[in-house]
Amino acid sequence: MRFRRLPWDRERAFVSSMAGDWLLMDMGDLERFIRHELAADSPLFADLQARHLAIGGTHQSTLAPLFSQYRSRKSYLIGGPALHIFVVSLRCHHTCNYCQVSRQQTNAASFDITGHHARQAVDRLFEWPNPELTIEFQGGEPLLNFEQVMTITNLIVERNRAEKRSLRFVLASTLHDLTDFQLDFLAEHRFKLSTSLDGPEWLHNANRPRPGRDSYERTVRGIDAGRRRLGDDAVSALTTLTRRSLDVPEAIIDEYRKLGLNSISLRPLSPYGFARKTAERTGYSTNEYLAFYKKAFEHLIAVNKSGYPMDESYASLLLSQLFTSFGHGYVDLRSPSGAGLGAIIYDYDGRVYPSDEARMLAAMGDHSFSLGDVSQPISSWLSSPAMSLLLGAGVAEALPTCADCAYVPLCGADPIEHYARQGDPVGHRPTSDFCKRNLGLFDLLLERYELADRATKRLMESWGTRRNSTPEPCDVAA
Ligand code: SF4
Repeated sequence: MRFRRLPWDRERAFVSSMAGDWLLMDMGDLERFIRHELAADSPLFADLQARHLAIGGTHQSTLAPLFSQYRSRKSYLIGGPALHIFVVSLRCHHTCNYCQVSRQQTNAASFDITGHHARQAVDRLFEWPNPELTIEFQGGEPLLNFEQVMTITNLIVERNRAEKRSLRFVLASTLHDLTDFQLDFLAEHRFKLSTSLDGPEWLHNANRPRPGRDSYERTVRGIDAGRRRLGDDAVSALTTLTRRSLDVPEAIIDEYRKLGLNSISLRPLSPYGFARKTAERTGYSTNEYLAFYKKAFEHLIAVNKSGYPMDESYASLLLSQLFTSFGHGYVDLRSPSGAGLGAIIYDYDGRVYPSDEARMLAAMGDHSFSLGDVSQPISSWLSSPAMSLLLGAGVAEALPTCADCAYVPLCGADPIEHYARQGDPVGHRPTSDFCKRNLGLFDLLLERYELADRATKRLMESWGTRRNSTPEPCDVAA
């Protein structure tokens, strides 16, 4: 077991088992328990047993429930990658400062995937054994090469007649200029649409410049068209937060409410691609992000209490880790790392990466995490130097600092982010933004839950229990 003194009450601790069961205890009780001085017939000892933190005697209990729980929590490992991202074009209409992608001008067709690479990528896709595959199309702007979106989808559907996997298609797009023809095709294959909406019109257009300065208007039109044709639940949106966003958490959430969206993702800027070059202008510290998040969270609670249901997707993910023992579909918060084990990216030029972030690094000239290309069998990707790097640094339970952290059963490793920010896939947690953010958010949610009234507690529990293990649409700036 591991423990962490509560930052808001130093006389108590969060105590967790290796499978992620937990409870809050007085430090005095914890010390008595560790010294074997806690009475075996006390209610607290029974509580510790129920959470697999103690065994009263081998005659009356076994480790089987603990292992079973551990297996459920790591169930995302079974079957290999479920999320397969096809980058069909790097072309994009936008020139966002914080873009993670090496976007290209709209007429640069040499940055589109070729039919040859697309066919090879589909062959590779079916080499993976996972019975449930999420296929996400991404860019740049995938609608600029919709022909290949259709070709790849049709190839996969055709091949799946014999394979009989469960398929889920996602399009990560600005949704600008969606045509009826495209919507018909997306509806036929029950696509989910994932777009980017940064908040009110002034903020979205400032963050996402494009000729005509009408990105917001086009996005809203696209969301509307997508929902009318594919259903309300088929369209989701993500925000990217720049420095100017941090002053207006309420306005961002209210915009989502105005548009009838019931989920928001308040994600911080990523350290890749153009985002790194413009970090001085658009970036902020993790402490500033956490202060923003706290305000946003309070506003979300108020919005829910006013009768409008809306969750924040990362809070829901962390709460699902706290309140359930199931695996989850979010590849960036896994141990072993989700990169390469949970997701694979097939780039427009036939190169293959274990995560979108690895692709961003390659676009910046650093190929440390390139697995190979689509002409090679997946066995050669799995034995690549990049995969060795990921596996060596991808098990949080074995990393310095994480190994002793009480949140580790609920947290992840993300070696590529640590490599990008700190130059080393193992990383240094005391100065890691990834760690500071997750530690800060776990603390915030736990403290908020503990101090909450009944209604707020129920609300937070409901966020945590309605998530499932379907892979999340990738967090990329569309
Ligand atoms: S990254 Fe930080 S919060 Fe997460 S397990 Fe490691 S030390 Fe704990």
